[in-house]
Amino acid sequence: MKNENIPYKIYLEESEMPKSWYNMRADMKKKPAPLLNPVTKQPMKPEELSAVFCEELVAQELDDTTPYIEIPEEIRNFYKMYRPSPLVRAYCLEEKLGTPAKIYYKFEGNNTSGSHKLNSAIAQAYYAKKQGLKGVTTETGAGQWGTALSMACSYFGLDCKVFMVKCSYEQKPFRREVMRTYGASVTPSPSETTNVGKKILAEHPGTTGSLGCAISEAVEVAVGSEGYRYVLGSVLNQVLLHQSVIGLETKAALDKYNIKPDIIIGCAGGGSNLGGLISPFMGEKLRGEADYRIIAVEPASCPSFTRGVYAYDFCDTGMVCPLAKMYTLGSDFIPSANHAGGLRYHGMSSTLSELYDQKLIEAVSVKQTDVFEAAEYFARVEGILPAPESSHAIRVAIDEALRCKETGEEKTIVFGLTGTGYFDMVAYEKFHNGEMSDTIPTDEDLAAARAKLPKID
Ligand SMILES: *Cc1c(COP(=O)(O)O)cnc(C)c1O
Repeated sequence: MKNENIPYKIYLEESEMPKSWYNMRADMKKKPAPLLNPVTKQPMKPEELSAVFCEELVAQELDDTTPYIEIPEEIRNFYKMYRPSPLVRAYCLEEKLGTPAKIYYKFEGNNTSGSHKLNSAIAQAYYAKKQGLKGVTTETGAGQWGTALSMACSYFGLDCKVFMVKCSYEQKPFRREVMRTYGASVTPSPSETTNVGKKILAEHPGTTGSLGCAISEAVEVAVGSEGYRYVLGSVLNQVLLHQSVIGLETKAALDKYNIKPDIIIGCAGGGSNLGGLISPFMGEKLRGEADYRIIAVEPASCPSFTRGVYAYDFCDTGMVCPLAKMYTLGSDFIPSANHAGGLRYHGMSSTLSELYDQKLIEAVSVKQTDVFEAAEYFARVEGILPAPESSHAIRVAIDEALRCKETGEEKTIVFGLTGTGYFDMVAYEKFHNGEMSDTIPTDEDLAAARAKLPKID
């Protein structure tokens, strides 16, 4: 074991927790492209967005100039129940790999919802409550976001209506019951309770749903119910802003020991945990103060960055949401049944998309069986049972550490361990039984979905 003066877990004191979120858009010279109204193709105005989203969250969404936004005290108090989250030095993993690399991971699975999503859920519920709303609607795929939001809503006494992608609703009854324990109502999507759900069911009888379809249903209910707004757990700028707490804590912990990372790695579904983890580091990079290699990891079955196009696209299947410019596979693209439900979104955060386009971040895609191999390896040496989504980052962290073993370089690697995998044991079972597939879309599949992108300009 390497004998260093760095503890296994670097904790911050409560008093060292961030008091503001950091908005990296403020330091971007070329800003992410604005959301467009799907009918007029003009940038969405705050009043248009306010019909769907909470007012204060709209302001955060559109603010690309204010670098620091204060975290309200109520939110900071809630954060204190499960934060600061530990930054762990993966000594055991390093030894097992025999690598000279130094590996750290920021573990966000230390709360009942089991992932980083609570960081934004509590903020969004807070602003909904402050606005005097009765409740919020949302969609959930694998269930992590729905769980986090139902916890946050119960804390503030808000009603929470969750549209859960039908196949997850059926495959993950325990997730559903956790949400109901926190008082949320959970409807399998597509459902007969909305017009868009009925339409999708009529066109695709027997469909097991998709995130894009559940979003359309949740938005319809929010817009049609007095005192309700819609909230989203990823992709949006406001979510990346809230998730910056991950990166700010990581940086504060590293700074305590004068550690400077060389490589920062995170999985990317809609981009919120990665955007949050990298934000203060990207801020330094954008201001020319430091340089880091930043790697986004996505599933080979849903490769938005590595095989997508940078274009305006619909965020949902029903085409009711604003258009966002992002790396996308097309809103018509339905990824194969992949066990990392949180990474099955066709698009990507517009902020990360712009950073990727400017070559400030890199991206790689990894195959599902390679991901589970890394997940199991990690569980056996570090003890934590990782979520399949998080295991994408583990895979690439291990690959980079093995590269250091070949070259003898002592690089410092930091990766985001976004959550735990207790609700994903069917996926682990398939892996153990050798029944896991690696479905990768063909160029024809991608071209077909791309042909349906909206025409802008
Ligand atoms: C939702 C989720 C992700 C992916 O979402 P991002 O917005 O890309 O961060 C990753 N890991 C876990 C555990 C999740 O629940």
